[in-house]
Amino acid sequence: MSEIKGKIIKGIGGFYYVNAANCVYECKAKGIFRKDHRKPLVGDDVNMEILDEEKLLGSITELLPRKSELIRPAVANVDQALIIFAVASPQPALNLLDRFLIMMEQQKLPCLVCFNKEDLGKSGEGRRLCEIYEKAGYKTLLVSALTGEGLKELAELLEGRTTTVAGPSGVGKSSLINAVAGREVMETGTISERIERGKHTTRHSELFCIGSDTFILDTPGFSSLDLFAMEKEDLGNFYPDFIGPEKNCRFTLCSHIHEPDCGVKAAVEEGNISRERYENYKLLYEELKNKRKY
Ligand code: GDP
Ligand code: ZN
Repeated sequence: MSEIKGKIIKGIGGFYYVNAANCVYECKAKGIFRKDHRKPLVGDDVNMEILDEEKLLGSITELLPRKSELIRPAVANVDQALIIFAVASPQPALNLLDRFLIMMEQQKLPCLVCFNKEDLGKSGEGRRLCEIYEKAGYKTLLVSALTGEGLKELAELLEGRTTTVAGPSGVGKSSLINAVAGREVMETGTISERIERGKHTTRHSELFCIGSDTFILDTPGFSSLDLFAMEKEDLGNFYPDFIGPEKNCRFTLCSHIHEPDCGVKAAVEEGNISRERYENYKLLYEELKNKRKY
């Protein structure tokens, strides 16, 4: 029997759904656990054999080596994160955007920062937002799912990669992914509409194939962030924009808040670190400081 290569896009109740040769096969992974002592994850590349070409049934015969593994959510082989906020409607909460970035930095995942709904922003607002994050070292994109602005560049950055998408609801995540895919892969609409439609289905992490070797990870509940487990002293390590300036701090364990001769504060004064990023850093630092220790 011939084997083909594929990717696990979903796992439900002992079944794995494998995207292979432009089809999705429902597979069991019987021998795999015993043979490899590894549990297959969404995102895993596998070899499978087709059991029934018409009913699209198959069997996973081999788990291929994992390039990487995310913990939250538990998914293999994710290449990058796409963090989407809107220029307006809803107004972007940069504090939340920074939390997403910190969470991705903790997992060492490269991040793209995307601002959607450029058509609704005041003149210059989208550029201003992008500059904050370009200065911090991130690749940024200013797009509109409505007018199509920036979508070609977005598509190029997604092509051939597996990307996890994060952002608050209503910013246009589904609209953007559908626009890039050229068909409806993700549901759009208001939250209440979606809750109504989704009432009777349990949702799981799922990869959507939007082109050859191009996958998008939609993770339900991913946008509700609880306080990450971290010591306040470590927070600064997840700000790429602090790395250069903190070499100039007088103290090696500088919190960049009250200490004299702080390179980070100097960089904020000189405009090399965005003041908004820094103010949000202080808020998060306070939050971690006040967190109850268990
Ligand atoms: P999600 O919750 O992040 O997936 O957001 P949706 O894709 O469901 O979009 C939320 C709402 O914003 C929908 O009514 C979309 O039609 C609208 N929307 C999405 N992108 C744009 C855009 O670029 N411009 C404008 N004006 N509206 C948009
Ligand atoms: Zn400092």
